[in-house]
Amino acid sequence: MTQSKTYNGQCHCGAVRFTATTDLSGMGDCNCSRCRRLGWIMQAVPASDFTLQSGADDLVPYHFNTHKIDHQFCRQCGIEPFARGVDQKGGETVMVNVNCLEDAPPVDRSTIQHWDGANW
Ligand SMILES: [Zn+2]
Repeated sequence: MTQSKTYNGQCHCGAVRFTATTDLSGMGDCNCSRCRRLGWIMQAVPASDFTLQSGADDLVPYHFNTHKIDHQFCRQCGIEPFARGVDQKGGETVMVNVNCLEDAPPVDRSTIQHWDGANW
């Protein structure tokens, strides 16, 4: 497990910027109809460890299925840097798009968790 660190993240155009503190120990992808198309790698962080630095006015929400997850897209470049939701214990959680972290180490997709969202 890597040490917990504060990473800088942003969308493609840079309108949306954030920081997230995480040890990146829970990275995963998902095969649901949406994530399969997006191809993102997720890392959940408590909402208290996530700070939106800029771009609140550039974020556009997207909801589907149970509408419990608040997917946030940059309206300028179309990238989803993060989504907001609630974990199984009811804690406010942010699902960070690891591919949007500027200073994260390269991700070996064979070592991450694979969420079977298609059959959830
Ligand atoms: Zn953008």
